[in-house]
Amino acid sequence: MTPETEQKNSILLVDDESANLLALNKILSSAYAIFMAKNGEQALKIALESKPDLILLDVLMPVLDGFETLARLKSDEATKDIPVIFITALSNDDDEEKGFVLGARDYIKKPFKAAIVRARVSTQMQLVRSVRILKNLSYTDPLTGIANRRHFSERLEMEWKRAIRDKTSLSFLMMDIDKFKTYNDTYGHAQGDLMIQMVAKKLKAAARRPADLAARLGGEEFGLLMPDTKLADAVTIAERIRGEVEGERIMAGAEETSRTVSIGAASVAPRQGDESPDDLIARADANLYTAKNTGRNRICADDGTCGLPK
Ligand code: GH3
Ligand code: MG
Ligand code: MG
Repeated sequence: MTPETEQKNSILLVDDESANLLALNKILSSAYAIFMAKNGEQALKIALESKPDLILLDVLMPVLDGFETLARLKSDEATKDIPVIFITALSNDDDEEKGFVLGARDYIKKPFKAAIVRARVSTQMQLVRSVRILKNLSYTDPLTGIANRRHFSERLEMEWKRAIRDKTSLSFLMMDIDKFKTYNDTYGHAQGDLMIQMVAKKLKAAARRPADLAARLGGEEFGLLMPDTKLADAVTIAERIRGEVEGERIMAGAEETSRTVSIGAASVAPRQGDESPDDLIARADANLYTAKNTGRNRICADDGTCGLPK
């Protein structure tokens, strides 16, 4: 289990009446981590900062009512997927319908019964957990356990925007195992898979910062995305990976086997309307192509440096 799944799931309770907040807190706090907000504004702030797994939202509140709060949660990419249960004294069907149209998952009427609150919350939490498990699976390459191409593409989009905002450099390494076809042909596909796993492990170990992302982009091709990293530092890391892979031996029966990797490095300080993420990948790919054509087992970079670094 990851630390994340070991933690209690969290709920944000939103109600302008303290008595209701306390009552709900009493019902739910033994099973869940609880955040509380007394109005819509506070709720939006906490939702954004703390990313609760579920929100229980009162409808009738002064200033920003539950409907408006829900609409704002849904309009923000960062909060739009947090499920919301309306909890309200309103009992007319039109309000219930309005809540569902706005995207509420469920509707609990006041005065609430503890058992019903627990049951409805539990149903939503089970959904939250299932979605999280599926998302993890769909973002992971099964052979190596590192990120897959889908995960990589989404992260690249995100980091690209962040780099524009923060005016930082984004670096990318594209890596491919050298002469891998002959490895497969000589030792078999299953042994080839062991080599792919070893290379993935080296790549993952090199991605030391929390924001770095090591991914298997397909076959025997890998990528390493490094936010807030300049080209020279990316090349240093590439060289470390290259050396690590070159030095590693894998047993195939009684025989020691090894392979090398070629790496294309590219870096960009993206600006609005300038290059696109695809351009960054294309440059790294072109540099990788040069690395292959000039002898393999080397890093070629945007600045024209190419060959076995010092
Ligand atoms: P180069 O040095 O130019 O990269 O030559 P190469 O032989 O590595 O390149 P090529 O693209 O011709 O070969 C890639 C090989 O990778 C062919 C394919 O069978 C193998 N491959 C792709 N995915 C997998 C996989 O999941 N497992 C194994 N064992 N082999 C794979
Ligand atoms: Mg290859
Ligand atoms: Mg290839």
